[in-house]
Amino acid sequence: MAEIKKLLIANRGEIALRIHRACHEMGIKTVAVHSTADADAMHVRLADEAVCIGPPPAVDSYLNIPNIISAAEISGADAIHPGYGFLSENAKFAEIVEAHDLIFVGPKPEHIRIMGDKVEAKRTAGALGLPLVPGSDGAITDVEEAKKLAAEIGYPVLIKAASGGGGRGMKVVPSEDQLETLMKQAGSEAKAAFGDDTVYMEKYLGNPRHIEFQVFGDGDGAAIHLGERDCSLQRRHQKVLEEAPSPIITPEERARMGGIVANAMADMGYRGAGTIEFLWENGEFYFIEMNTRLQVEHPVTEAITGLDLVREQIRVAEGHGLSVTQDEVRFAGHAIECRINAEDPRTFAPSPGTVTQYHAPGGMHVRVDSGLYTGYKVPPYYDSMIAKLIVYGTTRERCLMRLRRALEEFVVEGMKTTIPLHQALLEDPEFQQGAYTIKWLEEWLAKQGA
Ligand code: ADP
Repeated sequence: MAEIKKLLIANRGEIALRIHRACHEMGIKTVAVHSTADADAMHVRLADEAVCIGPPPAVDSYLNIPNIISAAEISGADAIHPGYGFLSENAKFAEIVEAHDLIFVGPKPEHIRIMGDKVEAKRTAGALGLPLVPGSDGAITDVEEAKKLAAEIGYPVLIKAASGGGGRGMKVVPSEDQLETLMKQAGSEAKAAFGDDTVYMEKYLGNPRHIEFQVFGDGDGAAIHLGERDCSLQRRHQKVLEEAPSPIITPEERARMGGIVANAMADMGYRGAGTIEFLWENGEFYFIEMNTRLQVEHPVTEAITGLDLVREQIRVAEGHGLSVTQDEVRFAGHAIECRINAEDPRTFAPSPGTVTQYHAPGGMHVRVDSGLYTGYKVPPYYDSMIAKLIVYGTTRERCLMRLRRALEEFVVEGMKTTIPLHQALLEDPEFQQGAYTIKWLEEWLAKQGA
């Protein structure tokens, strides 16, 4: 058992703030790290200490492992939380942190490594009893064998990069005559983007939903699930709005599938927070990948369970285990998160700039996670997400009404944001009924003339 007294947050923006808040509520001091572009950022202002770790490009700062480790040593931090993105799923980083006698607030490095390789992840998930998308057993290299397999699976098939991420490195193959060309293209694109040309094949599901389960393990063989999130509203495979619970999952199905994922994590000896992502079609779940970190959309799970997931992560990292058993987890009400980006709501062109006026919505069951303030200059170097609005209601209908009200109140001036996009979405009857799949938003955007 170790007690964390000072924690270094190896991240920026809203997630750095989110982690800082959990730490201060637990009596833990925080150390912010920042690039020169972020010297005036809110995560730097609120932290107990701050260390500059390099120039604006992330490779020189937020991905600069030696500088982050030095910042931890200089400040006397005893733990590092990686947040999401940046180094959060870098097994080498987790190993280096632990080799410096620092606590890594995250999974065991070997589990990060396995799940970071999608071929390995699929094999492991299958062995742990999770349902898989039909496809190749491991990597595919030979075109003739690929053709044979695709004929068995049935077209269209999907070629995916083993090291892929963020929806990149995927090719839909409609028929056999295009298989060879697209397989080669996928390989060379994957090589260019991820330095690894390994590809594999999956059945292409026509119109699924994206449903993911939040899991937590204590690293010692106990694990629980915290229900699912529906993240089907995507544009270019990027999530736009997430909700919990999914409008189409029944309590029985949640308990059944949640039990399967929790058992899998227990068997693995998984430590900390993780997300098991599935595609769901016609009542069946198909594993696609596991994220070995906190997710952007974790607050919707917090809203319906009343648990602070960062607090749980820290408890587990300290060796205290989880604060609840599965039987003690209660699901109540409905929560929706809107990702608000500094982007044109029609063209999605980035729109960095200076915030000339800022007012965040408030009131009952309204949460805004954001580092924005009037006068803040949104730097052009990083992700365009500037705020998350999370709203809770006792029912989905009340949640939608409250979300509409909260969006009306939200003022961000000085740049274009995706607030109007969320407002328009809320007025759509299909969205209101929860009748959407992963294709729905792009089709909806096309209809709006975007
Ligand atoms: P990444 O790590 O790049 O995000 P994922 O495997 O999580 O890749 O897939 C991202 C998205 O791509 C999914 O949410 C889904 O929209 C789509 N996708 C992935 N696999 C399939 C599949 N077999 N059939 C149809 N769509 C898929």
